[in-house]
Amino acid sequence: MNLADRLSRTAAAYGPRTAVELGDRSLTYAELDTLAGRVAALLTARGIAPGDRVGLMLPNLLEFPALYYGTLRAGAVVVPMNPLLKSREIAHYLRDSGAVLLFAHESSAGEVAAGAAGTAAEVVAIGPGSVTALLAAHPDPVLDAVGDGQDTAVILYTSGTTGVPKGAELTHAGLTRNADITARSLLRLGPQDTVLGCLPLFHAFGQSCAMNTAVGVGARLTLLPRFDPLLALQTVQQRQVTVFEGVPTMYAAMLAVHAQQPGAHDTATLRLGVSGGAALPVEVLHGFESAFDCPVLEGFGMSETSPVASFNHPDRPRKPGSVGTPIEGVEMRLVHVQNGIGELCVRGHNVMKGYWGRPEATAETVQGGWLHTGDLARVDEDGYYYIVDRQKDLIIRGGYNVYPREIEEVLYEHPAVAEAAVIGIPHPALGEEVAAAVALLPGAEATPDDLREFVRAQVAPYKYPREVWLVDALPKGATGKILKREIAAPSA
Ligand code: ADP
Repeated sequence: MNLADRLSRTAAAYGPRTAVELGDRSLTYAELDTLAGRVAALLTARGIAPGDRVGLMLPNLLEFPALYYGTLRAGAVVVPMNPLLKSREIAHYLRDSGAVLLFAHESSAGEVAAGAAGTAAEVVAIGPGSVTALLAAHPDPVLDAVGDGQDTAVILYTSGTTGVPKGAELTHAGLTRNADITARSLLRLGPQDTVLGCLPLFHAFGQSCAMNTAVGVGARLTLLPRFDPLLALQTVQQRQVTVFEGVPTMYAAMLAVHAQQPGAHDTATLRLGVSGGAALPVEVLHGFESAFDCPVLEGFGMSETSPVASFNHPDRPRKPGSVGTPIEGVEMRLVHVQNGIGELCVRGHNVMKGYWGRPEATAETVQGGWLHTGDLARVDEDGYYYIVDRQKDLIIRGGYNVYPREIEEVLYEHPAVAEAAVIGIPHPALGEEVAAAVALLPGAEATPDDLREFVRAQVAPYKYPREVWLVDALPKGATGKILKREIAAPSA
């Protein structure tokens, strides 16, 4: 099965239903399916052959799914790209993937022109009305998809926190099965559901868990151009959203809005929150659940695992702070275990084929079918996994391991704290010292000393942050994840 077959099947069953909506525009499943077929016709007419790579450098547009599924239907490989990339990065993605075409938003025309110069990629600008104009000469949709099974469907570039971004090659079979499991057994999603997708569609979480998942079952996908907590709450009310998906900073931000105006939004339709992409502080989980009367289930995933690997399954007890148990057909285990903590490895149908064009990096990361995640975790007696931290975020203070997440959890318990990040800063004698950057809730007051003492009272002496500084907000990537590498200590 081609990943785009999910759309054709849903269009056949639920043609007149709304597939996707953004602002005051929407597309039905029948319209989306036809548009995707016409995109496939356009690509074929332009000489795009099966296996060719096509870049998609777009924000959340109504037409995003049409370009995505149209590219897949033509047998080409989608290379999603962040629309905020600069020319140097664009050149890397295009060269590395060997893309022959790039659909890019017109707002980034300057960077795109500079980045694509000297590469094989022909640039097609996308802006208001341009998809209609582009497709005018291609009225007849392609109906049958080319490519399936182990053929590569998408090359998802990892954000490159270590080294240059590498492209995870994901297959039609892997992505289809992941979206099916997410829809059926994790979210129990059906055509009556409305999914709020604030997550960018170029990233694994939004692309698979919101778009592919909703499209497979005929649910309605409500898009926001970018995340804003107030707009998200208003959208839940106006569009009668049933499932909200987001990264932890989104939950924290919506909670902060709620704290200022409790009860201002009617969120009664919300039946489920799904969190992933980073650790959800237990305090935020409980806060959201009681503020909005809606359970939040946390899962673990990464671009390399199509993306979902584990989840707090709805038919099993949910454990706060845990990423649950492996999804059906997937195994997890820990290696190099010390004091119960080891590196998390994943094996199963969701593991990428490899990093595109990088056999050495692939051999290092996938060994005997086991993908080494680079995350440290522990597992309890019921087989539930807990992410302790990213291996590279571990702080070693004078020979003692400090896991930032443990200290962040304590900071989130302070009533004035909106967001917290614990990092290691260089120290001449200890190697590293523990430090924390904290953003307070609007109107709340606490001094760095208050926060330091609050943590000090609750953890062993080697763990509490000696340095604490207040910031307006923590730096975040396009998905809303906190970017620790961009946090800098204020110069004294
Ligand atoms: P990156 O965050 O480097 O851009 P991905 O978007 O593929 O890459 O995210 C994968 C990483 O996100 C995982 O390796 C892990 O560190 C983190 N992650 C995902 N889900 C969770 C979770 N529920 N708890 C903690 N960390 C998570």
